[in-house]
Order: sequence, then structure tokens, then C-alpha cells
Amino acid sequence: MIKLNQINKIFSDKHQSFHCLKDLNLEVKQGEFTVIAGPSGSGKSTLLNIIGLLDKPSSGSYEFDGQNVAKLNNNQLADIRREKIGFVFQAYNLMPVLTALENTEMIMEFCNVDKKVRRQRAMETLEAVGLGEFKNRFPAQLSGGQQQRVAVARAIAAQPLLVVADEPTANLDSHSTESLLDLMQSLNQELGVTFLFSSHDPRVIDRAHRVVHLQDGQIVKDVCTNNNDQQVAV
Ligand code: ATP
Ligand code: MG
Repeated sequence: MIKLNQINKIFSDKHQSFHCLKDLNLEVKQGEFTVIAGPSGSGKSTLLNIIGLLDKPSSGSYEFDGQNVAKLNNNQLADIRREKIGFVFQAYNLMPVLTALENTEMIMEFCNVDKKVRRQRAMETLEAVGLGEFKNRFPAQLSGGQQQRVAVARAIAAQPLLVVADEPTANLDSHSTESLLDLMQSLNQELGVTFLFSSHDPRVIDRAHRVVHLQDGQIVKDVCTNNNDQQVAV
């Protein structure tokens, strides 16, 4: 579903340039539950931004869902993002003036889903993440863990193929982290949604089916943990 081939990302301005991702190759199949791990500054967010079509590589090719995305213009990329990709970021990603239900409906509104269907699906999704009874609360009236559950509900309500989550458990306590991971894992198993997230949290890394280790913009280790701890050296 995701095929990155010789991806490079160079950030440059008038004064300096920084080679962030270096000749990176990565393939992710539909239904995988993968964590991109690595120290701060190793390029995790940059890589997720490229995979989520929020940013473009400086060179290399990217095939998403069978389509070469390098050839697409910004409008076409935005269409794919809306229809096929859900996003969860670390704290503060809900709209404070909207209730849990309205936040969950938001992305579907951009996708032109009919209002009745939208509401129904948002309600079902909030129930699926265990927050049905909190639907009318505003983010400020929810705990950090509950807010992240709403963020996951919002990401999956539009039924994307892929959910990209950048450090989704940052700022969460152990209990909230475990229950968020339980939730993402069950959505992965029941609906086949592909989850790709970044984290340097050992609690998250322990639970992933596959851990791709980044260091200085390169993949240094790619470990499948649901396959007898088979380790693939890169
Ligand atoms: P963290 O764990 O702290 O979130 P990360 O692995 O997500 O780190 P990135 O945010 O991808 O790291 O950044 C990788 C490197 O690229 C860093 O050195 C960062 O300063 C640099 N970088 C990221 N975005 C830009 C940008 N827009 N312009 C210039 N440099 C950037
Ligand atoms: Mg980051």
C-alpha cells in the first residue's frame, strides 16, 4: 500500500541545508500495525508527513495505494488525504469550540458525506472508542486520553485506508496509553485499517507488530515482532 523508493528530504533555505531523510526505502502492506521509532530529530515526523502526503520528498518515488503520487498536483493530493488517510497528532489536535461529536464529524464534512450519514457514523465511531456518553462534551471537559480517543474516532470515522499518527501517546499516562493502543489495535484487527505511527515511547514500541528504527534519517533496523521475533537487518 505504501512503497517508498530512494526517498531523500533536504530542508534548505538561503543560509543552510539539512539532509534529513537519506535514500530511504520502505514498504508497508495493507493491514500492518507499524511504529516508526528513533531518537528525537531522526526524521520520524518528516517521514510521516511525506507518507501522509502533507509534504513532498526532495527526490525518490512514492507509490500510495497503487498510485504514483509524485505526478499529482496539490488538489489531487488533498483529495487522497481526505478520502484515504486519517491523522492523529499529539496533544491539542481537537477543535476546542466543537463537541466530541462535532469533532468526530469534521473530516467527513470535508469529504461531502451526507449530514445524516455523518452524524450516524460519528456517533457509532464515538461509541466504538468508548465515548458515546461523552459526545456532547467539549475537549476541555475530557481527559488527555479521552481527547486522543476522540482524535482516533475522527481519524477513522471517514473510513480511511491508512491512519498516520505522530506520537499519539505523548503526554498520556500509562493507563491512557494502554487503552489507546488497545483501541488502535482492535480497529486494525476488526476493520483492517493500516496504522503507521511514530513514537519513542517503549510502551508503544512493545505493542507494535513491526518496528522500523530510524537514525539520522536512515532505517537502521526493521523488526517484525509478530513473526517469531524475526529480525531483518537493513
Ligand atoms: P521528535 O522525536 O523530536 O519529534 P523527529 O524524529 O520527528 O523528532 P523531525 O521532526 O522529522 O524529527 O526532524 C528531523 C530533523 O529535520 C531535525 O533535525 C529537524 O530540525 C529537521 N527539520 C524538520 N522539519 C524542518 C523544516 N521544515 N526545516 C528545516 N529543518 C527541519
Ligand atoms: Mg516528531
